[in-house]
Amino acid sequence: MLLHIGIDDTDSPGGGCTTYIAARLVEELLKLGAGFKDYPNLLRLNPNVPWKTRGNGAVCLRMEIRPELGGPIKEAVVRAVEAHSDFGCANTNPGIVFHVGDVPEAYISFSDRVVQGVVDLDEALGLVDRFGTSAVGYKNMRGVIGALAAVGGLQRGDHTFELLTYRKPENCGKPRAIDVTSVKAMSKELMGSTFNNVDPETGRVLIAPHGPDPVLYGIRGEEAESVHRAGMIVEPGEPVERWVIFRSNQGTDAHLRRRSELSELEPFNPAIVVGEVVERPRTIQGGHVIFSLSDETGRVDCAAYEPTGSFREVVRALIPGDGVRAYGGVRDAIVGDWLTLNLEKIDVQRLAPDVRFVNPACPACDGGMESMGREKGFRCRRCGYKDGRLRKKTVEEERRLEPGLHIPPPRAQRHLTKPLVRYGREKGGTAPEELYEPWHWP
Ligand SMILES: [Zn+2]
Repeated sequence: MLLHIGIDDTDSPGGGCTTYIAARLVEELLKLGAGFKDYPNLLRLNPNVPWKTRGNGAVCLRMEIRPELGGPIKEAVVRAVEAHSDFGCANTNPGIVFHVGDVPEAYISFSDRVVQGVVDLDEALGLVDRFGTSAVGYKNMRGVIGALAAVGGLQRGDHTFELLTYRKPENCGKPRAIDVTSVKAMSKELMGSTFNNVDPETGRVLIAPHGPDPVLYGIRGEEAESVHRAGMIVEPGEPVERWVIFRSNQGTDAHLRRRSELSELEPFNPAIVVGEVVERPRTIQGGHVIFSLSDETGRVDCAAYEPTGSFREVVRALIPGDGVRAYGGVRDAIVGDWLTLNLEKIDVQRLAPDVRFVNPACPACDGGMESMGREKGFRCRRCGYKDGRLRKKTVEEERRLEPGLHIPPPRAQRHLTKPLVRYGREKGGTAPEELYEPWHWP
């Protein structure tokens, strides 16, 4: 029989990692006689949910087993989750889902909604009841939502792979000593088939986390073979306890699938919006850049935060009248009254002319003139020439902004954000853009 095991919400900012539990279970279940039907799946869920860890990743193991193995496998999974979850953290609410047989279509659409929005526990429990699935939830049981989403997340369209390596327990918490030169060599050799290894602006290595979690490093790429080859090139600087290759929705924009009108925006949801810039961007304390966007239905403040580096220069170069498509996560207002969209990418679709009004030059001596008052003409500062009929003249400034798609540097990208290098490499023939509502500027 076919068995799908979803697991979510076992980790906390203080440590632990749901993928580590999956990695241990793969070995244990293989020994019990499970025949895996897919790579372990790593499904990143809506990154804008404030009560989840930054990564918000759930896992699913899909296997063919003899029916009598069902009991021992469930026991092994429950034991592993109980042994490795961070129960002490208030926001850690583990969930496990066991589903036998084909994955119902209702689970697939549920999964999409957990990636793209906010879904409540009652709905998850209702589905579990309806389809005879079993679920184990701890504490407030919220992890059942992500665990069920992981089961439904078949990732039939675009997907990527990640090789994750883990540290021996005695090394967890110590600084990592991965050889930077080997990472750069790997990144160069596997350019295009792996992504986001090194941040091009800062040279910073991005494959290793910094926290106390058991991950040593992770390499993301297009195929299992490419991330495996990449892993063989990296010199880890310490023993690797175990490694697993996950199939994942990372780097696919799976959370950004639908265009919303500005009046529809709700906090904690990812969104794609199209509108016109209505005020010049302003830089606020901390170096964050904000601009306001409007459509026929409403208005939103779009924010490019300080860590997005050079992306802020793009945002600063916008002017009122520019037409943009903005992608990001909605949150409550950070300044003023409007909701805020934390920008993940921006597509500059139409540049408005940057017209400025300047004082005319003196007709007599070509010197600078000053106004004699509204509608009263100008006086030359140099020779005193006056002309009551002179008016301000218009000059069009050159725009220093390229139309098209702009994405923050890899160091500031979300797990789900599709990086520029992946454009044109989407699998399954469905680039997310094809799913967007078509939009053309008049
Ligand atoms: Zn003059």
